[in-house]
Amino acid sequence: MFLRPSEPQISDTASLLAATEEHLSHLIACPTVSSESNLAMITMMADFLDHLGAKVEIFRDPGGGKANLFATIGPDVPGGVVLSGHSDVVPVTDQDWASDPFTLVERQDHLYGRGTCDMKGFIAAALALAEPVSKMQLKRPLHLCFTHDEEVGCLGARALVPELQRLGYAPRMAIIGEPTGMRLIEGHKGCCEYTTRFHGLEGHGSAPDRGVNAVLYALRYTNRLMELAEALKVRAPQGSRFDPPWTTVNVGRLAGGAAHNVIPGKAEIDWEMRPVQPGDAAFVKEALAHCVENELLPAMRAVHPNAEITTEVIGEVVGLMPLPDNEARDLISRLTGSNSADVVPFGTEAGLFQQMGMSVVVCGPGEIAQAHKPDEFVTRGQLAQCLGLLEGVAQSLRA
Ligand SMILES: [Zn+2]
Repeated sequence: MFLRPSEPQISDTASLLAATEEHLSHLIACPTVSSESNLAMITMMADFLDHLGAKVEIFRDPGGGKANLFATIGPDVPGGVVLSGHSDVVPVTDQDWASDPFTLVERQDHLYGRGTCDMKGFIAAALALAEPVSKMQLKRPLHLCFTHDEEVGCLGARALVPELQRLGYAPRMAIIGEPTGMRLIEGHKGCCEYTTRFHGLEGHGSAPDRGVNAVLYALRYTNRLMELAEALKVRAPQGSRFDPPWTTVNVGRLAGGAAHNVIPGKAEIDWEMRPVQPGDAAFVKEALAHCVENELLPAMRAVHPNAEITTEVIGEVVGLMPLPDNEARDLISRLTGSNSADVVPFGTEAGLFQQMGMSVVVCGPGEIAQAHKPDEFVTRGQLAQCLGLLEGVAQSLRA
C-alpha cells in the first residue's frame, strides 16, 4: 500500500524523494500495459488521495475495464493547475530486460522498470507531493489527472476532457509530465493515423473494364494525398518552429491483390499526417472526402454499385500549438530559471487540454530516449528536480 499521510514537510526533499520512490515501486508493480486493465492502479491512487481528503472522481470507460482519475486538492473553484500523467505503459514483449520490468530496481541512482520514465516517475512525484500539499492552505486548486490508453491514441484523455467540461471544471494551466529531461516544452505536432479500405470488384485480368480494380483506386487516392502533402507545405504557419515546419503526410503501407492475372477486389493503405495546426487536418479530410465522393466512388460504382471506400481512424493525437501567451510556460520558466521553451517531435495529451482552454506545457522527469525501451529508467536526480518544480507550482497556488 501507499505511505500514509504524515506531517507537512514540503521542503524536506529527502523524505519527499523517499515517498516518491515508494509510490513508484507500487505503480511499477501494476502491469498497466495499454491492452490490460488499469483499475488496480487507479483504485490504489484513489484510495491514497481520498485518504488525504482530496475530492476524487473516477471515470470508467464504456467497457468498464479502464478508468481515468481526476482529483482536486484545495478549494473547489475554477483556476489552478492540473498535473497530468497517463497510467498505461507499452508492452515488454520481445524485449531483453536485465531485471523484471514490473519490479522497481535501483542500481547506482537509476530506477529501472517499465514506465519509470514514461511516465510513472512523474505520477509518483505528484502523489508524493499531494500529501504535504493537502495540508496547505491553497487559494486555487491543485488537480491530479491520471488517464488510460494514452499510448494507443490518447483515448482516455479524449473521453475525459468533455466530462470535465460537463462537470464545470475550468483549470487554468496544465503540466503534462511526459519525459522531457525536465526541459520545458511548449509545442508538438499532432499525429493522426488512418487505414483506408477500397472495396472493388474482382475479375479476370483479361477484362479490366468488367471489374473494379481496388489497387488502382488506392493509388489514385494516394496520388491525391501526395498532392495535398505539397499543398500543406504552402500552408505552414509563418515562423513555425517544427522540423519540417509544415504538416507532413506519409503513406506507410499499401496492400492488395493476389496475382498477375486477377483484378484485385480489395486494397488498403495505412497513412498518417502530423498536423502543425488543427486546420490542416480538416483541410486534408475535406479534400479527401471531396475526391472520394465526386471522383473515385462514382467511377467505381458505374461498374459495381456496391463499391465502397471506408476510412478507419486508428488514432488522432491533437497537436500542442506553441502560443505567444502561455501562462504555464511563464510559471515554469520563473520557477526553473529557464528562459527558453522548445518543441518536440513526439505526441502527448497536451493538445486536448489546450483545446479545453488551458495554457499547457510538457515537462517531466526522464528522457524520451529511454521510453518504450528495455531497461527503461529514471534517475533520482531527475525525480528530485521534478519534485522541486512541483513544489514551486504548489506554492504558487497559495498566493
Ligand atoms: Zn508517455
